[in-house]
Amino acid sequence: MAIHLPIRQLFIDGEWREPLLKKRIPIINPATEQIVGDIPAATAEDVEIAVQAARKAFSRNKGQDWPSTSGAYRAKYLRAIAAKITEKKSELGKLEVIDCGKPLDEALWDMDDVAGCFEYYADLAEGLDAKQKAPVSLPMETFKSYVLKEPLGVVALITPWNYPLLMGAWKVAPALAAGCTAILKPSELASVTCLELAEVCREVGLPPGVLNILTGLGTEAGAPLASHPHVDKIAFTGSSATGSKIMASAAQMVKPVSMELGGKSPIIVFEDVDLDKAVEWTLFGCFWTNGQICSATSRLLVHESIASEFLDRLVKWTKNIKISNPFEEGCRLGPVVSGGQYEKVLEFIATARSEGATILSGGDRPKHLTKGFFVEPTIITDVTTSMQIWREEVFGPVLCVKTFSTEDEAIELANDTHYGLGAAVISNDLERCDRVTKAFRAGIVWINCSQPCFCQAPWGGIKRSGFGRELGEWGLENYLSVKQVTQYVSDEPWGWYQSPAKL
Ligand code: NAD
Repeated sequence: MAIHLPIRQLFIDGEWREPLLKKRIPIINPATEQIVGDIPAATAEDVEIAVQAARKAFSRNKGQDWPSTSGAYRAKYLRAIAAKITEKKSELGKLEVIDCGKPLDEALWDMDDVAGCFEYYADLAEGLDAKQKAPVSLPMETFKSYVLKEPLGVVALITPWNYPLLMGAWKVAPALAAGCTAILKPSELASVTCLELAEVCREVGLPPGVLNILTGLGTEAGAPLASHPHVDKIAFTGSSATGSKIMASAAQMVKPVSMELGGKSPIIVFEDVDLDKAVEWTLFGCFWTNGQICSATSRLLVHESIASEFLDRLVKWTKNIKISNPFEEGCRLGPVVSGGQYEKVLEFIATARSEGATILSGGDRPKHLTKGFFVEPTIITDVTTSMQIWREEVFGPVLCVKTFSTEDEAIELANDTHYGLGAAVISNDLERCDRVTKAFRAGIVWINCSQPCFCQAPWGGIKRSGFGRELGEWGLENYLSVKQVTQYVSDEPWGWYQSPAKL
């Protein structure tokens, strides 16, 4: 399929700017392994200019600067961005497919979610105006107090490649709604649609400097951005390893961070389920987005009494998944994002095999596809809790399986991880689901499903999956600071010191 990939530059202060060192990074289509274009590679010098532009937009002439505009004013821009995304949905969806390899149906779904996210935060921006000066009740009548919610400042938004534009939207929309100005640094492995967001911002006339978009490598563009003294906050989504580095650099300046990191989430299937429905959610929970989901429920715990039948059906359903070029109609599994990721996933499978696990299904590249970074959806059994495949995030289409006999055992196995992002329980006994929900050590729980995500509900993890919440009103709070204002309202003098007049 011939699709035109626009040649873009960095987006700084409302304009396209060539990176100062003129470096570019090739774009490789993961389904064909062909170079299809390139993106600009920012370095510390470009970061400096982008931070200055964002600072200027944050503190330009009083009254006209972005933070002192009303929420209703900012909402108009967010709605205009949403409308443009919808108008360009088909083109953006295709670019996303070429760049990261997800099936076209999924990419188009992402674009709807991106537009929905901007619309949602437009609503919240409007609502923010009415929430200003919320009174705080005090125990002394001589004082009155209220609270102002103010934008945190210039924020750095650093994102991964699995939902390239959507992860950007989850941060850009609430940051701009709150009145922050921002620098978005998407992943070097999939930046194309984020650069198109820059074009959208130009088209809707977003004031210069409010959103700057820098593509480039993590070490060359991300690191100087995260450690920049004039960046007031970092919102990061990515691996726990990078998250920890960013926290260390932010700590030098006591800079706030929010962290959406990796996971190794469990799905518990009890014996009372409709087998086929449970099988389908198990597949979707792990193999959607070509298996590259932070919250993938990649550890299946199935009750021993149904395990044999369940696994039988799971394998049959898995073999029915259409693995193809992501543009083909009905494709449900495309390639992983890059050659490096492909090697990494196959290495995980090889290690599981060498540690004594059984590859029940998949485990290799699909025979009918000779090009592209494709990995078969893989199911691994005979897993012990000390194996790498049980403990570490694969970030590819790999599901590992254990059985259990009691609810307590299932919960113990489910919580046996350093991570705490998502968890799912499938059972027709809703009281049991409620008990298990409370026992899960995770930030997100799905009951009788896995993965559906709505921008109205909070998203985030505990333990090494991070902290802070994106989406919903929590996502807006990420970019707001609370100012206490307390006024003395009595006519009487304070009277703590003796007045010289009375001496
Ligand atoms: P990554 O950590 O390699 O990169 C994420 C971003 O950080 C990229 O933009 C990268 O360029 C940048 N980066 C890399 N090194 C940096 C540094 N030293 N300083 C500053 N920035 C740096 O992650 P990835 O491979 O792009 O994404 C996969 C990971 O993201 C998985 O672990 C996945 O679970 C996680 N993820 C989490 C969520 C969530 O909501 N919790 C969502 C999606 C992905």
